[in-house]
Amino acid sequence: MNNSQLKRKMEYPYEEAKPRRQIAYVFDTNKCIACQTCTVACKTTWTAGRGEETIFFNNVETKPYGGYPLRWDVNLLRELKNQRWSADGSYEGSTIFEQTAPGERVRGWRPAERDYAYPNIGEDEVVGMLEKGAFFNGMHGSWMFYLARICNHCSYPACLAACPRKAIYKREEDGIVLIDQSRCRGYKECVKACPYKKTFYNMVTRVSEKCIGCYPLIEKGEQPRCVTTCIGKIRMQGFMEDAKEPRKDNPIDMIVRIRKVALPLYPQYGTQPNVYYVPPIHVPSDFLMQMFGPSVKEAVATYRNIYDDRELLAAFLLFGNTTKIIHSYRAEDHFAVGYNELGDEIVRIPYTEPVHVRAYYDEKIGTYRHNTP
Ligand code: SF4
Ligand code: SF4
Ligand code: SF4
Repeated sequence: MNNSQLKRKMEYPYEEAKPRRQIAYVFDTNKCIACQTCTVACKTTWTAGRGEETIFFNNVETKPYGGYPLRWDVNLLRELKNQRWSADGSYEGSTIFEQTAPGERVRGWRPAERDYAYPNIGEDEVVGMLEKGAFFNGMHGSWMFYLARICNHCSYPACLAACPRKAIYKREEDGIVLIDQSRCRGYKECVKACPYKKTFYNMVTRVSEKCIGCYPLIEKGEQPRCVTTCIGKIRMQGFMEDAKEPRKDNPIDMIVRIRKVALPLYPQYGTQPNVYYVPPIHVPSDFLMQMFGPSVKEAVATYRNIYDDRELLAAFLLFGNTTKIIHSYRAEDHFAVGYNELGDEIVRIPYTEPVHVRAYYDEKIGTYRHNTP
């Protein structure tokens, strides 16, 4: 199995079976304000039933101290050996499919019930102390950032690999990973295996559940609920082309494959996740590297210079401005323009927002305006 994020071959329990196209998301961490609108939108849409009280297909946690379920990432990172990257960007360590015990398909761990009790733990906690007044003196050493998380609809899903009932499948038409609940017997192997802890066990129905990629919307050409409701406009969902043939007019390809400004979360796990993050530009690169892989510094530098790159800027301007899936886009002189699958224009955003200055006294309605620009 070739893992393009690890730039090497990798072990996986099943044969390669690529979907016709792969769903993908880009999240810009620099814009997230942790308002949790996405969390609530998903929850009220999909997981408002009995037994789903602690199930969050979407959650937003504060890094470095937050995490839902508790220590979801740290527990596995502690176990995985040799998480080293070579100078050419290939991964030298073990993935969760390679560092297994006899009889085990995936290296994992199962959270206890109490690990689901603190969805907001660590929220807004910063690293280090902030000296009095440092806030007013420009850059300071304290930091934290918000990490929005959903299922990654991985190319090599660990949940699927571990399921003894073959109840989990990856859809051929779009790569969305789903659980067939009629086959599931609640063994929780997927909960143990998913390194991102994005499958959940429902104690009332006694079967597992996970993010469904909002497939009823995708099938209508619409982006998912957590994407279209995002207040910070940090998200875009689309489809990725094959890694070898990225399309310049596909905004997801442009951001992920061509300019490489958005990176996978913990690629060293080996599942080849399909949610890509623009790393936070104010966080020390050592921390970011263990989280997003070895190209973090380049990604941050590219993002900082985005105003010199009209094509990249145009792709980012399309975030959060249409509910429809954007299949292609163009950077015109004054506008970023997005198109649907048929090539019809669905969104047009100016690079510079027009400013309308209204008269202080409006003669037509006989009213004075204050603070009108
Ligand atoms: S709605 Fe958007 S800005 Fe708000 S928490 Fe979710 S991802 Fe962040
Ligand atoms: S993130 Fe977890 S639940 Fe989602 S596809 Fe990957 S392994 Fe499965
Ligand atoms: S894609 Fe849909 S189901 Fe998945 S986290 Fe977002 S809103 Fe929830």
